Amino acid sequence: MSVLTEIRVAVFDMDGVLWSMDDPIEHGAEAIRRCRQAGVSVYFLTNNSSKTRADYVAKLAGFGIESTVDEVVTSAHATAQWLEADGARGKTAVIIGEAGLRCELDQVGVNVVEYVEGDAVAYVVVGWDRGLTYDKLLQAHGAITRGGARFIATNRDATYPLAMGRTIPGGGSIVAAVATSTGVEPITIGKPEPYTLLTILEREGVVPRQCLVIGDRLDTDIAIATRVGTRSALVLTGVSTAEEAADLPPAQRPEYVWPDLSSL
Ligand SMILES: [Mg+2]
Repeated sequence: MSVLTEIRVAVFDMDGVLWSMDDPIEHGAEAIRRCRQAGVSVYFLTNNSSKTRADYVAKLAGFGIESTVDEVVTSAHATAQWLEADGARGKTAVIIGEAGLRCELDQVGVNVVEYVEGDAVAYVVVGWDRGLTYDKLLQAHGAITRGGARFIATNRDATYPLAMGRTIPGGGSIVAAVATSTGVEPITIGKPEPYTLLTILEREGVVPRQCLVIGDRLDTDIAIATRVGTRSALVLTGVSTAEEAADLPPAQRPEYVWPDLSSL
């Protein structure tokens, strides 16, 4: 019997699950269709903070997958939600990040500012930024050490995967630079921290066992499922391998290990 009869929500990671860079991974669109036909709510959850949710809706559509912005949860969007709940509307933030992050913070009324010596700043928000400069580190450092800002990280992914097992520095490597210079550890919003998945469960009104997280990384996708207590499936179309899953302590192993999404 398919796991689809036992769950009400399916949360898909995207990179390494539905596509690899700009190439579709087989059976992705079909798996999403099967969820929808079974009446299972679908969410798309990514730690990538560089794109907007609308960008993802467009990318999914390009692979034949229909979605709405409400079904897309990026670490930038979740960070904005967290800030809004923290009372950040009208407050200031120094950010290191790309358009996706800036756009999400705009939408919850956070004022993105440059750090000026002597000014108080409410938050420093750090995500992936391929336009990183020393000046941006300088501003984040000043806002935290002298401006009284709280340090928020969209995610701590050390690397971003390219094709053929190659990687480039991820948002976590920039977060680490700010944490190192300030000696302050951030509040982290993205996977494997539980916040994003907990907000999905709350929105859907389901208990953890009614939710299945499907991802290609043990250290983020499967780890968040384990922490929150949802079901989990590792697909072998991305970063982690079946051997790595088998090497984990039993409580941290995925419930399912699938060659690809045709197993759903
Ligand atoms: Mg992935």
